[in-house]
Amino acid sequence: MKCPYCGATDARVVDTREVGDGIRRRRECLACSQRYTTYEQVAKVNLMVIKRDGRRELFDRNKLLDGVWKACAKRPVASEDVERMVGEIESSLYGLGQSEVPSRTIGEMVMERLRKVDGVAYVRFASVYRSFADLETLKHEVDQMLERGSGG
Ligand SMILES: [Zn+2]
Repeated sequence: MKCPYCGATDARVVDTREVGDGIRRRRECLACSQRYTTYEQVAKVNLMVIKRDGRRELFDRNKLLDGVWKACAKRPVASEDVERMVGEIESSLYGLGQSEVPSRTIGEMVMERLRKVDGVAYVRFASVYRSFADLETLKHEVDQMLERGSGG
């Protein structure tokens, strides 16, 4: 950040304020003592998803929403719950502060939430998302779930 008056790069921040989706900072130049304002955009950096085959794809909220909806089809899951889960996952992803996230990380976040909301939706999602190697674990989880269900 260069001082607009003298071009020096050393400044101290005298005030920080959140405005909308950014942060406004009031700075004082250490060389000439002039004050100036900078504005930093915080959210909505382009988040790339690394797919299993290594290809990159721009993170698409609607695609995530669509996947969760499919898993919850005909299940007693409120649309607010689906929206809330996707909202939480979205902010966690941006909160990681990384520009690239493996698709698996997103999948784990979805499963973690679906599991608490609806067992069937969770298994549906997991069966699509998890790799073949994980299927044994999944089968084990389903068995446990059925046991719990029949036990009342
Ligand atoms: Zn200056």
